[in-house]
Amino acid sequence: MCYNGIKLSARAQKVRYLKMKKFNIYLDMDGTIANLYNVPNWLEKLKNEDTTPYEQAESLVDMELLSELLKSPLVSANILSWTSKGGSIKYNRKVRYSKLRWLQSHGLDMHIIDKYIIVPYGTNKAEAIGTRLNSSFYLFDDELNNRLNWMNAGGTAYGAEKIIEKIRFLLDLYK
Ligand SMILES: [Mg+2]
Repeated sequence: MCYNGIKLSARAQKVRYLKMKKFNIYLDMDGTIANLYNVPNWLEKLKNEDTTPYEQAESLVDMELLSELLKSPLVSANILSWTSKGGSIKYNRKVRYSKLRWLQSHGLDMHIIDKYIIVPYGTNKAEAIGTRLNSSFYLFDDELNNRLNWMNAGGTAYGAEKIIEKIRFLLDLYK
């Protein structure tokens, strides 16, 4: 009896879980949540394989608010970002680490983010996530080309403007 009770309860939980609509957010970093392009001499520094601009970048959104919204059980939140253009393998490894540190120091740590996908510069983001896209896959990215690739693969894409408002809207939509 007891066994049956547990079994039923697990099944009920599964049914409930399947009924719950979930959506997936993929956040770009540079120019979307991190203001890399506003760091003085950022390009020169990156060309000299200096990682400090990635760490010094200020946030473009209210990170506390963003973290709060991404904690919702309705969301699977992911980072989808590129390494540095033309950087060596060694430098790009450091870039990856700098980006992870930046996220952590801005409150987006492992409790909130499901996957950190940091791929070589120029990678088609729609192909980088290893899953077939549908309209519940939302990319936030300041680069038009990334958004076009994403939409061509069946996802939904937004620019870097009003991210908080858009996520609030989505949370309302999937509630
Ligand atoms: Mg970007």
